[in-house]
Amino acid sequence: MKVTLQNIGKKYEGREEFTLRNIDLEIEDKDFCVILGPSGCGKTTLLRMIAGLNSITEGDLLFNDKRMNKVPSKDRDIAMVFQSYALYPHMTVYDNMAFSLTMRKERKSVIDKAVREAAELLQITNYLHSKPSDISGGQRQRVALGRAMVRRPKVFLMDEPLSNLDAKLREHMRVELVRLHKQLGTTSIYVTHDQTEAMTMATKIVLMNAGKIQQAGKPEEFYNQPANLFVARFIGSPTMNIFEGEIRGGSFQSTDGFIKASPSEADRKAVEAYEGKKVSLGIRSERFLTEPSEENVEVEIDVMEMLGKEKILYTQLPSGQEIIISVPGHLDFKENTKSKFGIDQGSLHFFDTETGIRIN
Ligand code: ATP
Repeated sequence: MKVTLQNIGKKYEGREEFTLRNIDLEIEDKDFCVILGPSGCGKTTLLRMIAGLNSITEGDLLFNDKRMNKVPSKDRDIAMVFQSYALYPHMTVYDNMAFSLTMRKERKSVIDKAVREAAELLQITNYLHSKPSDISGGQRQRVALGRAMVRRPKVFLMDEPLSNLDAKLREHMRVELVRLHKQLGTTSIYVTHDQTEAMTMATKIVLMNAGKIQQAGKPEEFYNQPANLFVARFIGSPTMNIFEGEIRGGSFQSTDGFIKASPSEADRKAVEAYEGKKVSLGIRSERFLTEPSEENVEVEIDVMEMLGKEKILYTQLPSGQEIIISVPGHLDFKENTKSKFGIDQGSLHFFDTETGIRIN
């Protein structure tokens, strides 16, 4: 099912300001849409409006072009999975999963088929007669998913469903969720503040800050073409290096004088239009060249982290500005030494310092 938000806004009663404003978004049928953003930016509020658990102050919410603003939550054909699995502790896994169908007074045989099919898919058939307290956190999360699945909703809404799991299990469940989504094809809207979850699971990411959408699109667009400085800093680990400076003679010059970077042929026109203006240059840590090139930067490596397949070098310019550089793990670098790195013209991100908006 397609979910469309048109100029949606939310103002909570008793609050002076809108929590969300001018939210325009189209989530296509079968999309796995991840709503991403820092704590308090309004992700849960948005999800709850789609679920019908929060009222909509302004704008329109459409499911397949039908206006849903006033349709009660139970009639929206959605299923929600929460961070706290919210299972009934006194019921077995089976009864927890069957609950919504039992309430709907479905036939026993229909319920049994639905529960067993979901259990099979989630690989929890062996636990159907256990109580939630007797299974692991990961299994409980699967039960919560199963309970949502048996209803065969048109849209899955998930609010940080993996945040109570340990790192290893979270990684595992990420892949399981993607597999499940491929099998079922149900439109899913997933809220998280974890950029890795967004980058790995989403067919579409919506990055929010302070009640506004900063960028919406495919994961690779966020990596390759961050729309503004907020997006550039939010996506990517280590965080993108940002240098303040200006455009002089068509090239970027950092304020401290230690970095000079000429735009690629493709970026030249856009950058030249900023001649004499304040510009911020972004370079991802893995985009420095380990061989010196036409334009270079010399840094002092003060800390090195060895992660196996890569090394993260924490370095400083003579001005004191930190630059984080990642290099392949097998290359030889040492702490407390100076090193030269090349600047790759094809990997430069230019932003208008005043507005934060991308230039190239
Ligand atoms: P988190 O990741 O911390 O859950 P979030 O991005 O999901 O954050 P929301 O929970 O949607 O953010 O909250 C957005 C803003 O709306 C916050 O400032 C919050 O205090 C406010 N807010 C949320 N619920 C209510 C409410 N019922 N009444 C008034 N203000 C609220």
